[in-house]
Amino acid sequence: MPDSPSKTAVAVLGATGSIGTATMDVLRRLGDPWHAVGLSAHSRLSELRDLSLGSGVRYVAATCTETARDFDFGEFAGGAEVLIGPEALVRLAEDPAVDTVVAAVVGSAGLPSTLAAAKAGKRLALANKEALVVAGSLVTQASRLSGGEIIPIDSEHSAIFQALQTGRAQDVQRIILTASGGPFRTWSPSQMAQATVGDALAHPTWQMGRKITIDSATMMNKALEVIEARWLFDLPPEKIGVVIHPQSIIHSMVEFVDGSVIAQLSPPDMRLPIQYALTYPDRTGCPCPKMDWAQAVQLEWEPVDTEKFPALKLGWEVASRGGTCGAVVNAANEAAVALFLAGEIRFTEIVTGCRRILEVHNYDASPTLDELMRLDRWAREEITKWAAVC
Ligand code: NDP
Ligand code: MG
Repeated sequence: MPDSPSKTAVAVLGATGSIGTATMDVLRRLGDPWHAVGLSAHSRLSELRDLSLGSGVRYVAATCTETARDFDFGEFAGGAEVLIGPEALVRLAEDPAVDTVVAAVVGSAGLPSTLAAAKAGKRLALANKEALVVAGSLVTQASRLSGGEIIPIDSEHSAIFQALQTGRAQDVQRIILTASGGPFRTWSPSQMAQATVGDALAHPTWQMGRKITIDSATMMNKALEVIEARWLFDLPPEKIGVVIHPQSIIHSMVEFVDGSVIAQLSPPDMRLPIQYALTYPDRTGCPCPKMDWAQAVQLEWEPVDTEKFPALKLGWEVASRGGTCGAVVNAANEAAVALFLAGEIRFTEIVTGCRRILEVHNYDASPTLDELMRLDRWAREEITKWAAVC
């Protein structure tokens, strides 16, 4: 291991998060020659220190300048260089010593470094779906031009990436993203309007960071994944379907023109798609739980209810209009989720607010990166003003 060109020098951006810590576990288990060159954290600097100890990393990056100001970096023994501030992510993503960038920062804060990794021709092991939602055209084009590659970590997209290995792109009829349905799958709309933060954070099948857990409850996560799939696989929105599958065992499917459907199955554990994104096209043993074929298991699926989960409509709409829509909906959603978590808006207002901000924004079909970043700031301000009067 590995038989294919070495991608074993890794930067883990967002190392303290749910995907970041799972990546560190995967790297430890893969062992030599796999190693972390650089790690980043935003606010959890003690956790960053613990992750860096004994890992031999060259760089540690602390992106929240205020938190870094009060932290004693003398504790980072072992000679790792300490980089402070948001620009440090780009520096890590571009570093010539890095082959593979694990983009596991949450939100559009991950866009500059994701784009930098794509431009620098790195293998981009991509969890930071928001970067593709905001600027999918720029990121995928940059990776193509530089000779880089994007291997998805998101479990649905990893499943599709794997299933696509069995056929030709022109023979794909459609892809079908599975969704657990989140904690409110069986709730009525009036119950959902009263949902508390605790209710929304109680995901039935996955342990994840708080933002994506709320996105799963509104099903905005699946909307973001429709847009992510549109860019990763260069498919029109009408070829991207969503089906509810409460067990989270079928991670997604590709249907080919002859009606054959190829799915990827495994018990839910993000370490499997993370490891696959690192080692692709090689496979090796993985500590994740395996399917137990001696047990009787029922796999169910049901259609999505877009009236109850209106976020999904936004997903297809944004995927089809493109341009500035992704940046606006993504930023509005990030800000609305933060407002919900702070107790300032109700659960159902997250998606209502996103729809409103999308409708009032000045649409541009071919925005520059600067324009997308400006709209990201604008949408956050607008949703905050809207929340104050709604
Ligand atoms: P977490 O909230 O657990 O972790 C987020 C990471 O990003 C942390 O390391 C955090 O640092 C860092 N971070 C937060 N804000 C900033 C910022 N402004 N600038 C730089 N770094 C920042 O999130 P997840 O691991 O759950 O998700 C990460 C990404 O992966 C998201 O895009 C999510 O959609 C995607 N994803 C996650 C899955 C999961 O199972 N968790 C599944 C599929 C996709 P710190 O903690 O130090 O503050
Ligand atoms: Mg997913």
